[in-house]
Amino acid sequence: MESAAQHSQFRATLWHNDRDQIPQRYTTWPLSSPGYNRFVGSLRRVYFDNNATTPVLPEVLEAMRPYFNERFGNASSIHHHGQETRAAVERARESLAALLGCRASEIVFTSGGTEADNLAIFGLLKSGDHLITSTVEHHAVLNSGKRLQEMGSEVTYVPVDGRGLVDPGDVRRALRPNTRLITIMMANNETGVLQPVEEIGRIAAEADVYFHTDAVQAAGKMAIDVKRMACDLLSISGHKMHAPQGIGALYVRKGTLLKPLLYGGSHERSRRAGTENVPAIVALGKAAEMAQRGLSDGSVRQLGVLRDRLQAGVLEAVNSANVNGGDAPRVPNTTNIYFDYIEGEALVIALDLKGLAVSTGAACSSGAIEPSHVLTAMGLRPERARASIRFSLGKQNTAEEVELALSLVPAAVARLRELSPATPAIAVS
Ligand code: PLP
Repeated sequence: MESAAQHSQFRATLWHNDRDQIPQRYTTWPLSSPGYNRFVGSLRRVYFDNNATTPVLPEVLEAMRPYFNERFGNASSIHHHGQETRAAVERARESLAALLGCRASEIVFTSGGTEADNLAIFGLLKSGDHLITSTVEHHAVLNSGKRLQEMGSEVTYVPVDGRGLVDPGDVRRALRPNTRLITIMMANNETGVLQPVEEIGRIAAEADVYFHTDAVQAAGKMAIDVKRMACDLLSISGHKMHAPQGIGALYVRKGTLLKPLLYGGSHERSRRAGTENVPAIVALGKAAEMAQRGLSDGSVRQLGVLRDRLQAGVLEAVNSANVNGGDAPRVPNTTNIYFDYIEGEALVIALDLKGLAVSTGAACSSGAIEPSHVLTAMGLRPERARASIRFSLGKQNTAEEVELALSLVPAAVARLRELSPATPAIAVS
């Protein structure tokens, strides 16, 4: 593993070489125009990190705006102001239910995907129960599993294969008499790989075990039908589907005995206490409507066309690179590509200096760059996992932006490879 000192020296070299290109002057643009097609100074900014968060769409912003000051009532108040916001909350609940194929009464609004995952897990399990999950889940699930173990529950982490896929047979074999819940994500946040959730749902139903799926990265990118998946609980997050940060929801199938995480008033049918975040809930409802439209009007398909063009263009222009999870079914907006002989984090910085925002799944802990748990679980060597970059597109991205990215990525990789002592002569192209 590259030492922290070597790594920061490498970063310093990059910063030093590119420093004079950082724009000093920031232009302004009208508040009403979406800021995602923007220039900062002379630099065109392109955002391909939509799995981290998405911009709020103008229609979504318009829908939520009146609920900050014109229609500001507490949705629990019985007067006009409260009734007005209560009606808006219930309309949003209907929109979300239509997106997921469930009843409105089965939707619980939360503060986001993390809370939805925690509510599903801690709402169902108690000490002595057994949970089945996978090694590639988001930390909202993995760290909940860790905490459950500290509290006396048992947790089985089923592995994934080289494509990033869970084998439903492993889930079946992991069942125990005390298994209470299976939680396997729908789409992976780093690779976009789609798990066989319908098969896993059938296994859970046959075993009479609850099934939860984290659909945070699937919502809006593919059709979701909670009945077809036979899931009892499903998490979504607003800010991954063009609603604001800090709002999400958990689908809870009627009859599921869920203990709340928060105690207080009887909001959300006593499943989640606390005054509802009305503007954000309205926004999530609008984003759900837009997501549903996108699934039928071809815009989600178009997202896949852009992703495929980006992926093919990068692979054509760069050697010693390939897609992680490329042989598995994936959501249409994500591609995770390794570029051997470079540090992914250095590439993220180099591209950011050129105006392109992408990300690594890596985390910096105790001074060293830790490779992504998802990629290492898929069997990637640590160096290859650290050399991987995630490109994730959103509704606002255009074909022109893809071409811009294609003009930047091969050159940035080539430059980093020139600088890297790990690069064999053959890979400098
Ligand atoms: N689950 C997945 C798969 C995610 O990608 C994320 C966010 O990155 C979360 C859960 C957490 O969602 P939130 O940011 O709304 O808490």
